Amino acid sequence: MNEEQLPQVVMPQCQTEKILKGQKALVTGGSSGIGKAVAIALGHAGADVVVNYVRGAEQAQEVVAAIELCGSRAMAIQADVSQEDQVSAMFAKMNGEVSTIDILINIAGRQQAAPVDQMTLDQWNKVIDVNLTGQFLCAREAVREFKRRGVVPEISCAAGKIICMSSVHEVIPWAGHVNYAASKGGVMLMMKSIAQEVAPYRIRVNSIAPGAIRTPINTDAWQTPEAYDALMTLVPYKRIGEPEDIGRAAVWLASDQADYINGISLFVDGGMTLYPGFATGG
Ligand code: NAD
Repeated sequence: MNEEQLPQVVMPQCQTEKILKGQKALVTGGSSGIGKAVAIALGHAGADVVVNYVRGAEQAQEVVAAIELCGSRAMAIQADVSQEDQVSAMFAKMNGEVSTIDILINIAGRQQAAPVDQMTLDQWNKVIDVNLTGQFLCAREAVREFKRRGVVPEISCAAGKIICMSSVHEVIPWAGHVNYAASKGGVMLMMKSIAQEVAPYRIRVNSIAPGAIRTPINTDAWQTPEAYDALMTLVPYKRIGEPEDIGRAAVWLASDQADYINGISLFVDGGMTLYPGFATGG
């Protein structure tokens, strides 16, 4: 399914209180799905946003335009987050043209399903390379800049904020997706270990762990009424998540309103991690 066929994106309301005013954000995988909604939500909250994309320059430019409509500055930068040289070049360009970074949101990710005995090494590596190594490479660059610059009190209480996009599959095993679940489990302890290490520099590192969100990555799970009904057996709140649900969580977690929150996974999942199979006593 391509972008045109997706349900219309409901734009977040322009906020009168720009809680990220003056901050510079980088959103990886920012041209579609959750990344697109997060990038736009950050822009509405007053941040200048760099929209990273790997392919689809036109889609990335649409996100840039949506952010600019709300009065924030935005630009798109192409880079494959799994490639060290491309990540370095992206940060060099951002530091050059936008001057610095205050918020990194690591969203780029992919899935490649296969039964474990049929999964190729290439399928394993591709998912780990983007979902885990890509988040490490971007976090490393951001921490370097946060440490170099330190806290700027007029901008934020923190020297920098990193939000990793994890998943409920950092705790829920996922048959047929051993590469994806391993990558998200890895993100959980990578995030906590970086948070522990850099907290004294006033750098906050957290994850958002979404449940089922209506995006191109999982169309099979919500596209037909039958699939949607089956999905709802896993969601106590009885609605699918929308990308904007993650956008609002990301704005808050990146803002000074969440200043004492460090090293957590914020589950945004309609209760999917509440073991709904036990709702009637198991
Ligand atoms: P999506 O397919 O719309 O977004 C993934 C984005 O990552 C795309 O824009 C893609 O181009 C980009 N990307 C892929 N490889 C890249 C690379 N090498 N370099 C740079 N960008 C790359 O799907 P989505 O659902 O919006 O997924 C976003 C994130 O949210 C992923 O990390 C995914 O694991 C996570 N997530 C999604 C759900 C869900 O239900 N949709 C649930 C939990 C977690």
